[in-house]
Amino acid sequence: MTARRLGGKPVAEEIRARTAHLVQDLNRDGFTAKLAVVMATGNEATAWYVRSIERAAAQQGVDCQVLQMPEASQDQLAAAITALNNDESVHGIILQTPLPEGVDTAVLVQLIDPAKDIDGANPLSLGRLSVGQPAFAPATARSVLEILEHYRIPLSGQHVAVVGRSAVVGKPLAQLLLQRDATVSICHSRTPKLADFTKAAAITVMAVGRANLLTAEEVADCSVVIDVGTNVDEEGQLVGDVHAASVQPKVRALSPVPGGVGTVTTSLLIWHTVQAAAKVCESIMWRGEPMATRR
Ligand code: NAP
Repeated sequence: MTARRLGGKPVAEEIRARTAHLVQDLNRDGFTAKLAVVMATGNEATAWYVRSIERAAAQQGVDCQVLQMPEASQDQLAAAITALNNDESVHGIILQTPLPEGVDTAVLVQLIDPAKDIDGANPLSLGRLSVGQPAFAPATARSVLEILEHYRIPLSGQHVAVVGRSAVVGKPLAQLLLQRDATVSICHSRTPKLADFTKAAAITVMAVGRANLLTAEEVADCSVVIDVGTNVDEEGQLVGDVHAASVQPKVRALSPVPGGVGTVTTSLLIWHTVQAAAKVCESIMWRGEPMATRR
């Protein structure tokens, strides 16, 4: 048996098509969605990622403002976030990490208005998700759900083992899966006999950050495996948390690394921004204000 490849490209294309429709509707109403990215370190990998967000926004007709604030202090970053919260032309805010030494990220993300928190960084967003209220999930967690739904993998009543419990991936993903009526096991570094969970699961999601952690002996026959992990192996190659060569012949479907979850996230950030803009647009329509002033 060869596992079905759950590639991220067609999933991202579907999200972009969805986004294009909504952008068209907004433009018809004289409204343009806008994303703001706050950047405070000169890290090359981060700069590359932010450029890819800018490109994705431009391709979809979404404005993108990058606030370059090298070595900014906690107070300066707090003031920038507050200003973006108050700026009616901005619909999505990303506080790009890493931040300069001494800056408390946990305090700053709590300042992001949940309505503009399009990467689910504010703990309020995770709290809302966990009680079933509308909120943006972090793009990586949502990407996993988008992949499962795109490839029509049934979730209701299925046992999903989520390995990793970070606030960016494992925890929000578990909430999204619960919303789809899955039965979720959240596993982590203190879970004894991890394989007991992954072998019992119809779907395993690996979000750990350890190359080749999941091997064929630890997955159920014909199960589905999603690999969120991004690691660099001894040969300098990007690899996931799944030992793909051994797992592939045993499972029904597997998402690749690279080319899987990571391929979907940027398009989701833009989709979330456009959704946030649509909410604002809708409320302005209700108030009967002229749209042209709201660009
Ligand atoms: P993280 O904050 O370091 O969390 C890792 C999680 O894995 C923790 O919950 C940890 O448990 C658990 N863990 C560590 N060793 C384990 C083991 N041996 N067995 C079971 N669980 C173990 O990492 P993250 O930010 O969630 O990211 C996870 C992976 O996803 C990384 O490889 C990261 O690069 C990747 N990622 C990819 C994307 C993308 O776009 N593709 C985006 C974000 C992250 P404890 O809680 O007990 O420490």
